[in-house]
Amino acid sequence: MTDFKRDGSHLAYCPPVEKWDDWMELDAEAWPKRVEKHYDLVPTICFNCESACGLLAYVDKETGKVAKFEGNPMHPASRGRLCAKGPATINQIHDPDRVLYPMKRSGARGAGKWARTSWAEVLETFGTRIRKAIQEERGEEVMYHVGRPGHDFIMERMLQAWGIDGHNSHTNVCSSSARLGYLLWHHADRPSPDHANARFILLLSAHLESGHYFNPHAQRIIDGKMAGAKLAVMDPRLSNTASMADYWMPTYPGTEAAVLLAMAKVILDENRFDAAFVRNWTNWEELEVDGFKAKGQTFEALIEALKKHYARFTPQFAEKESGVKAEVIVKTAREIATAGSRFASHLWRGSASGNLGGWQPARALMLLHVLTGSVGTEGGHNLNAWNKFVPKPFKVPPPQKRWNELLYPPEWPLCTHEMSFLLPHFLKEGRGRIEAYFTRVFNPVWTYPDGFSWIEMLRDEEKVGLHAALTPTWSETAWFADYVLPMGFSSERHDLMSQESYAGKWIGFRQPVNRVLRERAGEKFEYTYQANPGEVWEEDEFWINLSWAIDPDGAMGIRQYFESPYKPGQKLTVDEYYGWIFENSVPGLPETASKEGLTPLQYMRKYGAFEITKDVYKLNERPVAAAELAGSQVGANGVVTKAGKPVGVMVEDEAVVGYNTPSRKLELFSKTLADWKWPEFALPEYYRSHIHRSAQAASMGEHAEDFDPKYTPLVEWPKDARGEVYTLLPIFRLPNLIHTRSGNAKFLYEISHKNPLWVNPVDAKKVGGIRTGDLMKVHTEIGYFVLHAWVTEGLAPGVVACSHHLGRWRVNKDDQVERMSSAWVDLKEVGKGQWKMRQIESVSPYESPDPETKRVWWSDAGVHQDITFPVHPDPVSGMHCWHQMVRVERAGVDDRYGDIFVDTNLSFAVYQRWKALARPAPGPGGLRRPLWIPRVVRPEESAYYFKKP
Ligand code: SF4
Repeated sequence: MTDFKRDGSHLAYCPPVEKWDDWMELDAEAWPKRVEKHYDLVPTICFNCESACGLLAYVDKETGKVAKFEGNPMHPASRGRLCAKGPATINQIHDPDRVLYPMKRSGARGAGKWARTSWAEVLETFGTRIRKAIQEERGEEVMYHVGRPGHDFIMERMLQAWGIDGHNSHTNVCSSSARLGYLLWHHADRPSPDHANARFILLLSAHLESGHYFNPHAQRIIDGKMAGAKLAVMDPRLSNTASMADYWMPTYPGTEAAVLLAMAKVILDENRFDAAFVRNWTNWEELEVDGFKAKGQTFEALIEALKKHYARFTPQFAEKESGVKAEVIVKTAREIATAGSRFASHLWRGSASGNLGGWQPARALMLLHVLTGSVGTEGGHNLNAWNKFVPKPFKVPPPQKRWNELLYPPEWPLCTHEMSFLLPHFLKEGRGRIEAYFTRVFNPVWTYPDGFSWIEMLRDEEKVGLHAALTPTWSETAWFADYVLPMGFSSERHDLMSQESYAGKWIGFRQPVNRVLRERAGEKFEYTYQANPGEVWEEDEFWINLSWAIDPDGAMGIRQYFESPYKPGQKLTVDEYYGWIFENSVPGLPETASKEGLTPLQYMRKYGAFEITKDVYKLNERPVAAAELAGSQVGANGVVTKAGKPVGVMVEDEAVVGYNTPSRKLELFSKTLADWKWPEFALPEYYRSHIHRSAQAASMGEHAEDFDPKYTPLVEWPKDARGEVYTLLPIFRLPNLIHTRSGNAKFLYEISHKNPLWVNPVDAKKVGGIRTGDLMKVHTEIGYFVLHAWVTEGLAPGVVACSHHLGRWRVNKDDQVERMSSAWVDLKEVGKGQWKMRQIESVSPYESPDPETKRVWWSDAGVHQDITFPVHPDPVSGMHCWHQMVRVERAGVDDRYGDIFVDTNLSFAVYQRWKALARPAPGPGGLRRPLWIPRVVRPEESAYYFKKP
């Protein structure tokens, strides 16, 4: 397929748009007879990962049911292609065990007794409780906690309309370390690599098979490779991505920054850097390092200072740390220098999410981009903010006035996102309570570390007053809710999506397929649940109605934001919400739509996506607008300000917009880190992870001169601990599973249903001649889990690995989690905070309205490892550091596959040890966190101060 074209001329094998109203295919099941089947094709957006690829729902004209999902060729990011998870949406919508009606618990929390309730009762109950909390100035006790958002801005707007600081997310167990590393350079917290036009691509981890923006990025990495780009992959695992690479660098986990800085040293020493770019576009004049102050010095002196500072990062040092050969490091560095401005890279989770100091690899990787001048260039590293588009709706509420310390506590002032995984510990410490808690596509009991602490929190009605799980399916967490509220899958709801998928900017529209088709045929619906299966609703309409329930007469000032922009005083509809946005906030859309005689809303309902622009390179070089320049001032550092706010920077005597950083340039020297008590990290650095060999030696009481307890918490093993010490990699994704959301996708579970422990043959020998299939016991700091070994050379020695996604469980024999993907377990609290789980029965065929569940042939659901991990908040980024130092031994005679034990008293103690390493606010001027660093649902400026200045 050639590149995307708005007129559809790139299409080769996909149904052309003019046939979407009546698409004919022969019925495969009727073969060899030629029986025609006719479909309506309706575009929507996949919700099975963050990439937001375009789906086409094939609705059978005869039955009115969705028969399958394929790719939407008119979607500019996915271009008609999908990964396995997109078409598997069909399993999810037809899952016989899904939640179809609002449910309310009828027994004790967690007892598994449920009764059907009505949406009206749900709205009345929550509306009353939330209204009272807000009126009594307890707004912080209302919390919305999201796993997969799947939308842009609508929740921020709603929470600000309610006037509360109540947005919580999953991001601090996902990507916030990488985000901090990028953000400190250029304010944007994510990369948008232009893989398709690159000459050299460096991936930290497995982005080609399972990475962030997986399918849109993977196809462009392949485009780049087909045009001659070389690919290098840093990953201790020989992933499918690494197997496609020209260079596989199996770095010892947590040493990636050492390798990247060694590459930077090669480029500096060989004078192969882009001097003009570094001079013009970094804040080098602020550099203070090793007694060197750049102010008043020459650029040449700066380069010498950098060479001196990074002198210790020889390729030999990096080899010693990482295990990657020095000559490979040198060769790769030279290839990167040769690619110059066409050097692209990606880092999102992997080393960033696994390690203490995981934000440093992003800082170090960006140094390579800065040295090669590959920022904002064709084939280089772009800023997500330049490629992602979030339109503004009508009537945006003012920012909230208060600060919620359950979300942004003082200990981690530089965390990019809420410290969500510490919530049970915060409540245990008495920092607050929650009156109304909404979990949305969010399963922390299973996906978070320390899940038993979550169970202890969720079952405590003093700590959590009322809990609603908004979810399409049952889950381990929903089991402990008071209400389970069914929300739609990707063909059953509205959302706006846009991502940084390529060098362009686009917007996509998720829509409820049945409602859209039936409205086209003339039917009228007040609410989407009237057209969805059962009473499955969509969140947009739920939140609009809940806002009206909180403020029925408009006296609280909330209702006004949920009234029609076209019919004053009337309740807002989804058509009006999105119609207004498409008419007023998406550049070029109204004009394009009108050429086809369509309204902007009709256009988006027809095509499902719209490409806004491809003009996205070097946006930092745009001149400051004349109106902004009038009355502005230029400071000594070249920053152009107007009314005290920065609007640009002088570069080669021209006022250009630059980056949204304090210096308006790329921050080689982070004054923010220096000012906020981390001056030793003001330049990109490397420091050792919590699972580094020195930390392992220290944990065993051995002399480890490299171990520095100022930065690294000491692991304290129980006195009777047995087994060999290893680093466990627990976060690698499988390309066809979706955290816990794929539990009801039979096509996907048929492919992947086991997560064995990867062990290198060298280590298998060391642990006593382990063979594939042997039962292993893996001890963490707070418990253990038991699983099978897989002996493989596809993993560096000294490391063991176990994939994410698998190990679902249910406490009831016949419900709670889909039986095709979970084990029935006996779960007991054997002492205060001491939890034991044993599998009673694993997967087997079963009767259900879906005849295929009788043909389930696999007999394993994997083992739940995350629940045995303590929390590890990085002292700088606040991110949970996922990698675990573990002890591995052969399982004993009493151990059984899937056994789990955890002591939450120990997990609280580990939390305290990590918390002690943080350097809390206040920062300069009594601030809670730097004003320039973004915050989800940003409060007004006065809330940033502990005390008003
Ligand atoms: S990458 Fe796969 S799961 Fe993610 S949005 Fe695209 S098709 Fe869906």
